[in-house]
Amino acid sequence: MQLSIENTFSQELPADPTTANTRRQVAKACFSYVTPRIPSTPSLLQVSKEMAETLGFSEDDVQSKAFLEMVTGANVEEGTSPYAMCYGGHQFGHWAGQLGDGRAINLAEITHHNKRWAIQLKGAGETPYSRTADGLAVLRSSIREHLCSEAMYHLGVPTTRSLSLALSGDQVLRDVLYDGNAAYEKGAIVCRVAPSFIRFGNFEIFASRQDTETLKTLVDYTIKHFYPHYEQGTKEGYLGFFNEVVQNTLNMIVHWQRVGFVHGVMNTDNMSILGLTIDYGPYGWLEGYDPGWTPNTTDRQNKRYRFGNQPQIGLWNLLQLANALVPLIGETTQLEAILQSYHTEYPKKYIAMMREKLGLQLALETDIQLIADLEKNLQASETDMTIFFRNLSQVSKDTTENLKDVFYAFAKAAFYTPEEITGAIYTNWETWFQHYLKRLSQERLTDAERAQQMNAVNPKYVLRNYISQLVIDEADKGNYDLLDEIHALLKNPYDEQPKHERWFAKRPEWARHKVGCSMLSCSS
Ligand code: AMP
Ligand code: MG
Repeated sequence: MQLSIENTFSQELPADPTTANTRRQVAKACFSYVTPRIPSTPSLLQVSKEMAETLGFSEDDVQSKAFLEMVTGANVEEGTSPYAMCYGGHQFGHWAGQLGDGRAINLAEITHHNKRWAIQLKGAGETPYSRTADGLAVLRSSIREHLCSEAMYHLGVPTTRSLSLALSGDQVLRDVLYDGNAAYEKGAIVCRVAPSFIRFGNFEIFASRQDTETLKTLVDYTIKHFYPHYEQGTKEGYLGFFNEVVQNTLNMIVHWQRVGFVHGVMNTDNMSILGLTIDYGPYGWLEGYDPGWTPNTTDRQNKRYRFGNQPQIGLWNLLQLANALVPLIGETTQLEAILQSYHTEYPKKYIAMMREKLGLQLALETDIQLIADLEKNLQASETDMTIFFRNLSQVSKDTTENLKDVFYAFAKAAFYTPEEITGAIYTNWETWFQHYLKRLSQERLTDAERAQQMNAVNPKYVLRNYISQLVIDEADKGNYDLLDEIHALLKNPYDEQPKHERWFAKRPEWARHKVGCSMLSCSS
């Protein structure tokens, strides 16, 4: 393997002088050197071909022992010094102090075709930041991270990527339901890839320690490599940088709302400074449209990270980042103005996105009401979000007298309890469809043109919660065919794939309350 390694994070930022792999508080340093644990019998389960190509690995490389050893931590490439990053974070609204890469180990930065990529192993053993945990990951959660990051990429949602999924050959003890019934599970390692894994929490930790010097070094580093059009060391540069982080975060969340993705743990240590979706833990996909839904059982009480609250939480997290930048900027007025822009921009971008989902090209003031009414209806009749929007593209704008038939065809395909669509629920839907058809009549596109545009933003296939669970159940038995099938399916989420039509279906009833399908713990 001929890799072009060019480390900037570990070369340009201060390192922890201690190299022992012991849990500790690390001051005045952005990272600690650490060596991945050697897995007992590592084996590859899946490689993302496109990602491997993007990084410059040949097909032979991917087949090689060197590749397997690299992506499982069995061997450390010559000339590299793996490390874990130091960061803090606000968890569920409270400052949690130092967190850091407790089970992620950065291998190196690779450049290929003038792009830099950081390569990181998740689940490759303990680090100085592992706190009370073991630094390992189980197959279940690794499948979820690997599949979902690739699915999100192909959906066009900004995200970290997964190069590979591998078994370590070791057993890992986990108590899935936190009820004292711990059991051994297969250990696994995901090789994650992103231009950078820096999070809001990387900045917050230095601000919380009044270490303005290291904070400034890290901000200047981030600007130099990832926001190079802003000037380092100046107030204007820092404000420009922050403003762009705000825009990137906002755009990412609009995408989440578009595809029905619920992150589940939007703590500030899980917020990428590049606006990438990062840390796939107890995430989930909306089946029945419900702004109040969160898959994360740890958040069951407050539902802080519910679908409908994600935009609000994005802003709250940006406020924490702004606070961390205050020592470099010296005052807050302009930071506040930028945060205020999120308030005004988000609703505009959300409405624009929803117009696209509805196939509307003109921007009319009345669309806001049309969208609000739709959201109410979707929720009132437990409507599968993915199926609804996908099928909506099939509605002809000339539908007149057979509206009832059109509606019932919809109800049958997309509603979880079509038999309950009576009375006011039915009337509200009928009214909505009438308004929608009237609205379509103001548009110039033909039905076919509109359908094509809608199908480019309304996916046909998403990683439904129960699909992940089926893949996991098969993998636990040592069968990876379904893993391959779903990985391939989700590479073209907007395309009709007739042989995969069975995955374009409502969640089966058995999955409604099954652990892993509709609810997940953080145990991973
Ligand atoms: P999360 O909410 O999963 O992003 O994790 C929050 C913090 O816990 C991060 O600092 C993680 O590195 C750490 N963490 C999570 N799971 C483990 C584990 N199995 N071993 C060590 N650290 C972990
Ligand atoms: Mg995390």
